[in-house]
Amino acid sequence: MMRFSTRAIHLGEEPEKPTGAVVPPIYQVSTFRQSELGVEGEYVYARTSNPTRTALEKNLAALEEAQYGLAFASGMAAESTALLSLLHKDDHVVAVEDLYGGTRRLFDRIMQNFGLHFSYAEGTNLEGLEAAFKPETRMLCIESPTNPLLKVIDIAACAKIAHEHEALLVVDNTFMSPYLQQPLKLDADVVIHSTTKYLGGHSDLIGGAVILNDTTLHEKLRFAQNAVGAVPGPLDCWLVLRGTKTLAVRMDRHCSNAEKIAHFLAEHKKVASVIYPGLPSHPQHQLARGQMNGFGGMVSFHPKGDLESCKKLFNRLKIFTVAESLGGVEHCSQHKRGL
Ligand SMILES: *Cc1c(COP(=O)(O)O)cnc(C)c1O
Repeated sequence: MMRFSTRAIHLGEEPEKPTGAVVPPIYQVSTFRQSELGVEGEYVYARTSNPTRTALEKNLAALEEAQYGLAFASGMAAESTALLSLLHKDDHVVAVEDLYGGTRRLFDRIMQNFGLHFSYAEGTNLEGLEAAFKPETRMLCIESPTNPLLKVIDIAACAKIAHEHEALLVVDNTFMSPYLQQPLKLDADVVIHSTTKYLGGHSDLIGGAVILNDTTLHEKLRFAQNAVGAVPGPLDCWLVLRGTKTLAVRMDRHCSNAEKIAHFLAEHKKVASVIYPGLPSHPQHQLARGQMNGFGGMVSFHPKGDLESCKKLFNRLKIFTVAESLGGVEHCSQHKRGL
């Protein structure tokens, strides 16, 4: 087996046949010639597939050591298409409470209108999570670490619970990237990424992915990818491919930087508490050590003082930009009240 960083650079990226280009070109094209009427080649129409996207999909699958990867126009497009293809009206989904806000909005404000039902439970309490299951539960959706409280959820234990109830385990692996965590190896069925974050890595694109091993589920997703049509353009695919080449080195640096910042904040007199899975004080530190190959680039903390002093703190930050998102080479900071 090739090392992660070698796979990241080479898989899905064999030199292109006609020209020998060492990286896949941006196939900015919508349709492909049929050699004779009714005789379709490998590529027909770019919503169905495009060579730049195919290169990215192979690369993403290789990073999770999976059979199949599918690229989408955003993380939300990946999630929407996964739900639309894998669930039916009246199905029930159990999800962890502190999901990414956009995911919760998709579930409660869009998917609910189509007859899907959702229950939320605290992900670190496995008994509570299992108690939320119903006979019609078909999916368990988790993220680990969660956003922004960085709770670490036991993926293998969740897989066991889901499978005992004949449900699929879907893991949003955006916060870790495949370099730091590979949920399919812990028995998850489907992995979701917002490639906007660490995989792209440079805050210059929006993209998403679904990665999995099961052939039947893959066929459903592939059909829905084309039928729903929320596909990424070739330039965005190319940018993600460029990002994944340096994922290993970027993630190593993200982890070491975050660890230093976590320790700095933990010592600071104006900080009430720091949440970072790499700190021994983190409630799931031991689980994180076993499940993750590093503790990630996200650090959360509770500042002391009132809202006004908190605003002052953010407005005085240098280098750290106040902005949503994560996983780029820039430093971003955000404030959430009441957590
Ligand atoms: C950003 C994010 C998403 C949504 O992805 P987009 O690319 O913004 O659509 C989903 N899950 C997590 C954990 C995220 O951070």
